[in-house]
Amino acid sequence: MKETAQHRGLRKKLVEELKQLGIKDDKVLDAIGKIPRHLFIDSIFSEQAYANCAFVIDEEQTISHPYTVAFQTELLEIEKTDKVLEIGTGSGYQACVLAELGVELYTIERIRKLHKKSWKIIRDLGYSLTKTKLGDGFAGWEENAPFDKIIVTAAAPKLPQKLIDQLANGGKMVIPVGSETDSRTESQQVMLLVEKDENGEITKTEKGGAAFVPMLRGKELNSRF
Ligand code: SAH
Repeated sequence: MKETAQHRGLRKKLVEELKQLGIKDDKVLDAIGKIPRHLFIDSIFSEQAYANCAFVIDEEQTISHPYTVAFQTELLEIEKTDKVLEIGTGSGYQACVLAELGVELYTIERIRKLHKKSWKIIRDLGYSLTKTKLGDGFAGWEENAPFDKIIVTAAAPKLPQKLIDQLANGGKMVIPVGSETDSRTESQQVMLLVEKDENGEITKTEKGGAAFVPMLRGKELNSRF
């Protein structure tokens, strides 16, 4: 779907809303102001693409709230020189926000259909240096480790040790930890900022609640569609 003046206007409004909600990093806000979010979701929702809400994408997965994308990205204090690993490519939206910040990006998705679809949009939007992989994020991406920053966009039952191991000294990881959010019990995950200092010591800081789809083990090769 083509980019229209309406899309641009709505995106500007979204950026203002994110500022009101407390996002301060101008580089993150600029990236969100640039990425055409309507291209990442089903065209039947495109009118609402710039509302601050999550949407179901294929395979019962979701594209995160723009606020969540901005919040996780801001917590990482991204530098252009960073090598970044994302777990849970999903629609590819968060990956494009990171790529727009100029980092060297590696992103892993376990569902083949999403992996293929997101690869296409990441490439179509010009972020062709981004490396995508079909795989299990619990294993990280050993060959390219260590990473200065790691962002996990699915809820892990506990901190995955391999991801901690693949974080560089002086690096940061942001990860929702806890069980799947259940609307009946309103159970929530906690957003953790995990920092590794120059001696390899780990500090964990809770950064509020989160509501993500679960991080699952193994690759899902077969699509139902
Ligand atoms: N970052 C995404 C949000 C994706 S939702 C976006 O911007 O759209 C979470 C994604 O994590 C889903 O696509 C899900 O399939 C994926 N996922 C869950 N467990 C995973 C694992 N172990 N390894 C890689 N991806 C995983």
